[in-house]
Amino acid sequence: MLKRVINKNGKIVDIEEFDKESWDELKRTHKIGNFKTICCNVNTIPKTSIKFVKFFAHQNNQCLEVLDENKNDKNA
Ligand SMILES: [Zn+2]
Repeated sequence: MLKRVINKNGKIVDIEEFDKESWDELKRTHKIGNFKTICCNVNTIPKTSIKFVKFFAHQNNQCLEVLDENKNDKNA
């Protein structure tokens, strides 16, 4: 779950900039590629949890940074 992502213009977007209406609008109009994660620069998707908490998710639900760490662990 991510609170801050990078938009197409390279600007950091904070999740707190959205209220419920603008977040729902963003989810409706969002296209893959609009936002990238700061941690590993992959596509990220705006979502709302079952508890109505806004968050950005990695497109494949996995952080590449974590994957790389796991790979290193196996090699070690
Ligand atoms: Zn990541």
